[in-house]
Amino acid sequence: MDFVSTKAKPLNLVNSEELYSKATSLIPGGTQTFSKAPAQHVDGVSPRMLQRGEGCKVWDVDDNEFIDYMMGLGPNILGYGDEEILNAAYEGAKVGVISSLAHPLESELAEVLISKIPCAEMVRFGKNGSDVTTAAVRLARAYTGRDKILCCGYHGWHDWFIGSTSRNLGVPKAVQDLTIKFFYNDIDSLLNAFNEHRGEIAAVIMEPVNFIEPEDGFLENVKSITHENGAVLIFDEVITGFRMAIGGAQSYYNVMPDLACFGKAMANGYPISALVGSTNIMSVFEEVFFSGTFSGELASISAALATISALEKRGTLEHIDRMGLHLKKGYDDLVSSLDLSHVTEMIGYGWWPEYVFYDEHGKVSLEIQSLFQQEIVRRGILSRAGMFLCGSHQKADIDETLKIFKEALTIVGEAVKANNVLDWLDGEVLTPVIRAK
Ligand code: PMP
Repeated sequence: MDFVSTKAKPLNLVNSEELYSKATSLIPGGTQTFSKAPAQHVDGVSPRMLQRGEGCKVWDVDDNEFIDYMMGLGPNILGYGDEEILNAAYEGAKVGVISSLAHPLESELAEVLISKIPCAEMVRFGKNGSDVTTAAVRLARAYTGRDKILCCGYHGWHDWFIGSTSRNLGVPKAVQDLTIKFFYNDIDSLLNAFNEHRGEIAAVIMEPVNFIEPEDGFLENVKSITHENGAVLIFDEVITGFRMAIGGAQSYYNVMPDLACFGKAMANGYPISALVGSTNIMSVFEEVFFSGTFSGELASISAALATISALEKRGTLEHIDRMGLHLKKGYDDLVSSLDLSHVTEMIGYGWWPEYVFYDEHGKVSLEIQSLFQQEIVRRGILSRAGMFLCGSHQKADIDETLKIFKEALTIVGEAVKANNVLDWLDGEVLTPVIRAK
């Protein structure tokens, strides 16, 4: 045996707890997004605050070291502290950070995006993914003269989307009623929504792919049904852009939307997002209000130019895919050798793998996932179920991860067999950011 199936030693979390309790007295909830909150990890077991990152590693405020698979929720595509990007951002900042008039670097980045993203003929910039999904929705409403939106996926924190979720406190009912969900790979759910709201739908906005692959013809069908009904098709490529492919899922699947939203990995962590699309729709922005003091911010624009060039020059997306497939294959092998195929699997792709755990009824089990996460975080892996890799994850990091996964899955197997998963848990079970409604 090259391991013993005992729980890993608890981490020292003294500073984490003290600094986080200070944070919660000053910052409601202690973080700037629910996705970074302690409830996303096994609270009581996992660090609550990080101090710094380098490459694919992070250190918490107690100096515990982790291989990171969160990568700042996706943006750090090359890794933390990449010199080339830091230098590019500094050059952009030296120009003045924010210009008093439009700056040529904005057009330079727009030209690059137009050359890389199939549907891009014109470009506007924002700061967060939510800025550009919301701008796309407003633009589609202005273009069609209609109010209702069909959506499939997560699209940010603004009223028009979050009103359609379980976390809709503060969103007026009148706004909630304007957004209707349809389901991925379920073309009937889209058709039914169009039938029910005939002539009222301004846009279909969707993540073109998530952890489930599109069935043959699904994206093409969505596009033709959307257009037959006079609506605008928007791809939310905030995750897929600059990760699945530089030009996003539309370039991978060869299905062009009318508008597309990019963000996250575009500038290796610098805050920038982009809405791109066809000239006839984008030109309506001459009249539609989409405006931000920081939206042409030059450190981020310069970082985006350098990031896109580095992704190509270094072959980063191919590297990430290779590393992710190595991880996925290793996970599959562990699941077979430990006879756990009824308990867990790794779904998704090399560019975005996700581990999932199931209870004895085949339903997703956050309890079992929590035990797994307890055992991996104590052994030096910081991850949520959906794993973001970066250009700095090397084969040795993946092999180390698989070694830790083997120890954690062995414990999971024993606990599931003995039907005592919660007895093993030293902290709180994870809670989803948004519950299925
Ligand atoms: N769309 C998708 C698909 C996302 O994953 C996210 C963020 N997780 C957003 C939009 C919103 O982006 P942001 O948090 O940068 O506003």
